[in-house]
Amino acid sequence: MCGVFGAFAKNGQSVLEDVYLGLYALQHRGQESAGVAWINSRGTMHSLKGTGLVHLALNQQQLASIDTNCAIGHVRYSTAGGSELTNAQPLTATSSRGSVAIAHNGNLTNAEGIKNYLENRGAIFQSRTDTEAILHLMAHQPHKPRLDAFVDSLRRLIGAYSLAVILDSRLVAARDPWGNRPLILGERDNIIYVSSESCALDLVGASIIREVEPGEVIVIDEKGLHSIRIPKDVKKGFACSFEYVYFARPDSIFNGKTVYEVRKALGRKLAERAPCPDADLVTGMPDSGTIAAMGYAEVSGLPYEKAVVRNRYVGRTFIEPTQRVRDLGVRIKLNPIMNMIKDKKVVIVDDSIVRGTTCQRMIAMIKDYGAKEVHVRISSPPVRFPCYYGIDTPTREELAAARMNIKQLEIQVGADSLAYITEEDLIDAIGLPARDVCTACFTGNYMEGDHTDEMEL
Ligand code: 5GP
Ligand code: SF4
Ligand code: MG
Repeated sequence: MCGVFGAFAKNGQSVLEDVYLGLYALQHRGQESAGVAWINSRGTMHSLKGTGLVHLALNQQQLASIDTNCAIGHVRYSTAGGSELTNAQPLTATSSRGSVAIAHNGNLTNAEGIKNYLENRGAIFQSRTDTEAILHLMAHQPHKPRLDAFVDSLRRLIGAYSLAVILDSRLVAARDPWGNRPLILGERDNIIYVSSESCALDLVGASIIREVEPGEVIVIDEKGLHSIRIPKDVKKGFACSFEYVYFARPDSIFNGKTVYEVRKALGRKLAERAPCPDADLVTGMPDSGTIAAMGYAEVSGLPYEKAVVRNRYVGRTFIEPTQRVRDLGVRIKLNPIMNMIKDKKVVIVDDSIVRGTTCQRMIAMIKDYGAKEVHVRISSPPVRFPCYYGIDTPTREELAAARMNIKQLEIQVGADSLAYITEEDLIDAIGLPARDVCTACFTGNYMEGDHTDEMEL
């Protein structure tokens, strides 16, 4: 998973500090590296990238002092390609015909095929990211106007892409025809923004214009916004349901609804689907299960307590991964409040179980602190299939719910009971028609013709 952000000022005003702030608000989408690219008034492309969190990877003061009216940025969470700096984005390329920079959220599923095809024709790839395939596809169409070459390259891609692009001196936003990853437009005074999530628009003081539509390319220049369609028909939309469940920030708005509202609705569904009538309290696994736990408490009438505390600096401060620290595991990050759960029958809500480690260790801790019973409720369906569209889920063999049924998993994690919502509950809570939503990691229904071999597993 990654985050992208871009800004274009129609009146020539500097925008790089806004891009920095946008990335800062999208930090939850990727902590491995951060980068920006911009074009100056002479048409020269520049970029700066670094590893780690935004404030460590980039220098705010330096960026604020740079004069550019067109810039993009990226926060990276590695999926395709490793975590080294050569894979950090935005990717840039300059030729006699002009300059391009691309920031990509999502994952292309036919990137290997495209790379092989292009390498056989002499292309040399600099990184292992699938994003570079887009640059090479463009370079192989030198006879076309640049924007046409760009749109034609997108037509050949399968998979997920929400892009912020600098093409010559224009800002371009593009979203794959399946609408897999979010992408939204905003504005403030004379500046137009593109962002993975609306929470970043809030930070720069921009208001929402609208979301970029699936299969839409929006070109932003001095004249304003110009919309083009990618000439590709798809049978079904694939808006990632996991964005609502886990990935996006709760204050972000998709399709007119906050992610917070959807998470709370997921918790309400969970309480209807899997009640726990004589429990003493409901708590959430921080932070990902908190909002759903509140929804669960609301419907069940059970008291909601913040009975598990999260160290909020985990992820920012580095702890040496010694054996001692590895043994402590989830305890480094999460700690239940003993007096609150001792002798109690506890319902704990989390958004998902992936490998099952977090859940298993938390239950052990809660029981160790004297809870009578621990009932686990999950506010999404069982994750049984890997994601190929940009979320770093493990292989099928490592997915706990793919290896065993719910009863076996309940025993494995040591819960007194374990229950999930259904796919229908999830789609209902999101509020989009089922034909527009991706649930592939829960159901194995991938984009057409995709990964049939994996589905045989
Ligand atoms: P597990 O311990 O079962 O492997 O992981 C479950 C926990 O990981 C849940 O609390 C969930 O919030 C979180 N989680 C789910 N998906 C992702 C993901 O893509 N990346 C990260 N870092 N955590 C995730
Ligand atoms: Fe999202 Fe799951 Fe689809 Fe991946 S497979 S895009 S995580 S819903
Ligand atoms: Mg979690």
